[in-house]
Amino acid sequence: MAGHGEEEKVAIEEKDLDVSVLDGVGPATKQKLNNAGIYTIMDLLVHSTSHLCDILGGSREKVLHLQEKARNLLAEYNIIEKGFVSADKIYERAKRISYITTGSKNLDELLMGGVETQAITEFYGEFGTGKTQICHALSVNVQLPREEGGLEASAIYIDTENTFRPSRIVEIAEGRNLDPKEVLRSIHVARALNSSHLLLLVKNLGQKIRETDAKLVVLDSAVGPFRAEYVGRGQLAERQQLLNVMMHDLTRLAELYDVAVVITNQVLVSPDIFFGDPTRPIGGHVVAHAITYRIYLRKAKNARIASIVDSPQHPPGEAVFVITKTGISDPP
Ligand code: ATP
Ligand code: MG
Repeated sequence: MAGHGEEEKVAIEEKDLDVSVLDGVGPATKQKLNNAGIYTIMDLLVHSTSHLCDILGGSREKVLHLQEKARNLLAEYNIIEKGFVSADKIYERAKRISYITTGSKNLDELLMGGVETQAITEFYGEFGTGKTQICHALSVNVQLPREEGGLEASAIYIDTENTFRPSRIVEIAEGRNLDPKEVLRSIHVARALNSSHLLLLVKNLGQKIRETDAKLVVLDSAVGPFRAEYVGRGQLAERQQLLNVMMHDLTRLAELYDVAVVITNQVLVSPDIFFGDPTRPIGGHVVAHAITYRIYLRKAKNARIASIVDSPQHPPGEAVFVITKTGISDPP
């Protein structure tokens, strides 16, 4: 990573260019964008065209044109690629992927290095399987020095179930010889009150990531609020549509800002399935498609078992880990 520093710094400053540098963004447009949490050129690309249409109230063509200008400008600075790229560039970008340790060697190995940046990792399973505990542990671990499996960066934690516990963070930080106060200060927590609040928080994440230099975004849980509010078949289409928007936003954020996005999900118990595992994550195809890695968690005697589901590059396998005072670790 050394030697990369200077180059990266320049890139970060340029992608933070204010929207007003673009032709066609006058004070009124800038105000509308700012009101919606969009400040930079990069924000214009992170948000979908339809969302920008809603904000600006203009024609789709105009918005597409604006996004095209934003893309051209960032391509000029070599921050993003436009259109086709040679595979060596993709290879270069992939090499920048970094990993956050879960605290368990077994689980890190299953993930082939830990939780990855530029990707969405989902932990799903029944209640009490350790999803929230993993989120707490990662929020501490991302702050560790690189040689200890961290990224020396902060975390953003969106809590939809009111289960974030600062006292637990203190406990894990102490177990890792980190200053608990510092660690707490570097976890930026938002309590999402309902699904529309959650969508809004996700829409504004780009700015938050820049402000805090976060390398981890946690969403515990991602689908819960939608499931609670959109009940019944009649509302399914609308629910899936909103989930789709959120998952796309998260994908773009993960890639553009090189952050690890970790979401949790509960299982849908299907009593009609008699063979195989009668549990599936909630959210259907919309969520499944956007996720890079799905990890299924289940309880075992005195431990937890994680398995990786549907990953093209990971060999099928399982990892046994335990939840302890210091976070997540291998069984003794
Ligand atoms: P839900 O679906 O209800 O959100 P979850 O998968 O998020 O469940 P967690 O809250 O992560 O579940 O896990 C809870 C379990 O973690 C507890 O049952 C307990 O076994 C374990 N646990 C929590 N804190 C500690 C601790 N300090 N030391 C050891 N184990 C702990
Ligand atoms: Mg939980």
